[in-house]
Amino acid sequence: MNYVQLEKLGEGTYATVYKGRSRTTNEIVALKEIHLDAEEGTPSTAIREISLMKELKHVNIVRLYDVIHTETKLVLIFEYCERDLKKYMDAHGDRGALDPSTVRSFMYQLLKGTAFCHENRVLHRDLKPQNLLINRKGELKLGDFGLARAFGVPVNTFSNEVVTLWYRAPDVLLGSRTYSTSIDVWSCGCIFAEMITGVPLFRGRDNQDQLLHIMRIIGTPDDRVIRKIISESKADSNQAPQKQYPRYPKIPFQQVIPKATPQAIDLLERLLQFDPAKRISAAEALNHPYFTTGSVPYPIPPAGAMAPPTYTYPHPHQQPGQQPPQQQQAHDPQAQAQAHAAYLAQQGMTQNMYPAPAPAQAQGMTIPQQHQFMPQYAQQYPAGTR
Ligand code: ADP
Ligand code: MG
Repeated sequence: MNYVQLEKLGEGTYATVYKGRSRTTNEIVALKEIHLDAEEGTPSTAIREISLMKELKHVNIVRLYDVIHTETKLVLIFEYCERDLKKYMDAHGDRGALDPSTVRSFMYQLLKGTAFCHENRVLHRDLKPQNLLINRKGELKLGDFGLARAFGVPVNTFSNEVVTLWYRAPDVLLGSRTYSTSIDVWSCGCIFAEMITGVPLFRGRDNQDQLLHIMRIIGTPDDRVIRKIISESKADSNQAPQKQYPRYPKIPFQQVIPKATPQAIDLLERLLQFDPAKRISAAEALNHPYFTTGSVPYPIPPAGAMAPPTYTYPHPHQQPGQQPPQQQQAHDPQAQAQAHAAYLAQQGMTQNMYPAPAPAQAQGMTIPQQHQFMPQYAQQYPAGTR
């Protein structure tokens, strides 16, 4: 092989990942060795999926450089990233919780990568902190990709540990097979909450327990919603009597995650809709005021911490080089309130349901220039790679 295998980086559902160095270019890469069943060899679905992945080029998706296929193993050569999000939270978070500017940056990048997959009709199906990679520049990339579809939704890991259900959408837990992009959006919501608090939001032990954990917080949905989801699941479900779930009331997210700003809560609310049809799309979520208005506080990171990612959020309708409108909004509470009201009106919501957050100035904050909205991002990554 053209790569020197260095230390082990991690072990996951299907594979062992090593750091590697190219013998020709000295470039550091990640080598993902997929253990193959001696008898079955490589499933053809995996090969198909992997070739698809090679085409999925985006700054927020871990790049697959090459595939080496031998009789006994399959080695995927990926761009190297410093660590996964779980390890990042453990190392840099305050008991796992990340500061608001990092949460916003990572959340934006997570949704950006997810939206790109969905635009290309690819579902990830297993988004969780361990499968998100962070490089030295603070870029977040979706990893562990595609294999989920090739192999089906995983249940056990290679080492036979049970795969975590904590990020799995309620429709999937109810047996829905009509997987759509909304299942990834649910996972994004769970990851969002976890980055803010440092602890996973719904920690169930098994399928049913996971559903109950979800219902205890977001409330038990209408029987009609559950019936609709179940009717989209296994063919024989019509015969099976519908399980009765306890009728839990919804607990407001403000109570569950008191640290979150009203805009963060509003976004979370839209990501974590029990009914998949009501869930916001990743592309829509990128336009949410949580990203497009400057009301997130930016604390100075503690000494010794990795610098917060200097990520900028382009305005969706902005041309490169054009003065971003948000830059003015950040300093203009009235414009900010108007933008918020316009967004709520567009979403069919009234302003008093979700009052606009107090403008940054009123909260005694100033927003450093580097966190305002600038067009560099659009220039940095030419069209086609975004
Ligand atoms: P699995 O399908 O077995 O879960 P993953 O692709 O999730 O495999 O990799 C397992 C672990 O290896 C990840 O959680 C991460 O810690 C590490 N890892 C994976 N890919 C990379 C990479 N490109 N750079 C650095 N570390 C990686
Ligand atoms: Mg993994």
